[in-house]
Amino acid sequence: MTLRILTVEDEREMADLLARGLRQEGYSVDIAGDGVEAMARAAAAEYDIAILDVMLPGMSGFELCRWLRRQHAGLAIILLTARNAVDDRVSGLDAGADDYLTKPFEFVELAARLRALRRRDAIGSTRLDVGGLHIDTAKHRISTDGGELQLSRTEFDLLRLLASHIGRVMPRSEILDEVWGSASFIDPNIVDQYVSYVRRKLDAVGAPVRIATARGVGYELIAVER
Ligand code: CA
Repeated sequence: MTLRILTVEDEREMADLLARGLRQEGYSVDIAGDGVEAMARAAAAEYDIAILDVMLPGMSGFELCRWLRRQHAGLAIILLTARNAVDDRVSGLDAGADDYLTKPFEFVELAARLRALRRRDAIGSTRLDVGGLHIDTAKHRISTDGGELQLSRTEFDLLRLLASHIGRVMPRSEILDEVWGSASFIDPNIVDQYVSYVRRKLDAVGAPVRIATARGVGYELIAVER
């Protein structure tokens, strides 16, 4: 799956430059201009990496970093500091950042840091508990109190996607995009097929959630009524 990066930078030119470079490296990139916008985006989508400029209007990059760290434990965070101040570096690491870069920097250095983070497996090595599902994204395992689900990689990606959008119907096309990539040669019916596989496996362990069909729209993970 493509890694998703949230870039938070108020200088539009700098943000666009970063986004362009990161997309060329194969990342999917969204830009937020300040902390408030970043919080809204992070609440609405699941990111693997956040790149935060420290100097932002309103909420600082440090405050934003602390908030993101609390809300999204598995998110990898890189801070961009304006000067090579030891204070900034320490504040950044205290705030829960994984790494930092001092401006100005060469894009190749940022790209190298990102690769290093991925090697360290700081990305996606998290465990999430959603709706009674225990999701280990590093090991690609999902279990419930009733036992572990025996999932293929695709089934895992599908269930994890639905679990990270609780309270929302995921359109079929979006599921297809996220799990299978936007390859147009794939028959969209594959989504329904895999939903039925995952349903059977959820049933088998008596999972506290089930996949509901929103007719003509898509699917939603909801709690089982007991
Ligand atoms: Ca800035």
